Amino acid sequence: MESLILFIWRTLFAWFAAVRDLLFPRGCAGCDAPDEVLCPACRTLFSQPCIRVLPDSHADRCYACSLYRGFVRHAILAWKDHSDEECDSVFASFLAGLVLTVLGATRPRDTAASSLVLVPAPSSVSSMHSRGRWQTLPLVKAMQHDLRGYGLQVEVKPVLHLEGVKGKSVQRTGASGRSERIAGHVRVDETFIDDDSLFIIVDDIVTTGTTMGHCATSLHQAGAVHVIGVALACVESEADRGDVRHM
Ligand SMILES: [Zn+2]
Repeated sequence: MESLILFIWRTLFAWFAAVRDLLFPRGCAGCDAPDEVLCPACRTLFSQPCIRVLPDSHADRCYACSLYRGFVRHAILAWKDHSDEECDSVFASFLAGLVLTVLGATRPRDTAASSLVLVPAPSSVSSMHSRGRWQTLPLVKAMQHDLRGYGLQVEVKPVLHLEGVKGKSVQRTGASGRSERIAGHVRVDETFIDDDSLFIIVDDIVTTGTTMGHCATSLHQAGAVHVIGVALACVESEADRGDVRHM
């Protein structure tokens, strides 16, 4: 009986989704081209990996799929601020590809680790309330699936948490203000840390590098030896001090 109800529910849901898509076809999250979650041209924009310097951190650098600008910026904001959850798996595939690129580029140092641990960048409680979810968590879960498809040993461990931080903003505070806001508020579940794995912090946007830097340092202080950071996009600093370069 239960399976029949489930079958009817799924059939109705699929039917409603088909009608919805017919009446209200979606556009590309980046450029709004019709009938695409992300059109081929916008997907290409996420394949421009770059390296961002992280000041004062255990990990001196992090990696991003692209620069945060144009249609890349538009797509990430559609996902982040307008709940375009259909982008989850698409963005995760970009990040998984970036991880593979980084592992290939950094052999053998980081790949000396026996397994990969994906760590979603923490969100403040108020941010999770306003967005209704921990944005980076579905990304890392989909990444885990993709990377396991390449035969890698991959775990997801949401071990980083922000405590006592009010709000979350991108490009609304300066570097020093953001650093002060985050410093001392990153908590690590140390029971899940080992010194064999490569810990990969996954964030959406690296703005000043402060959050990623504090997260990397906190993980290191908790016992993680190998730590890197990856993100969908990074912001080029206004002063263009050479803190971003393409891979
Ligand atoms: Zn597009």
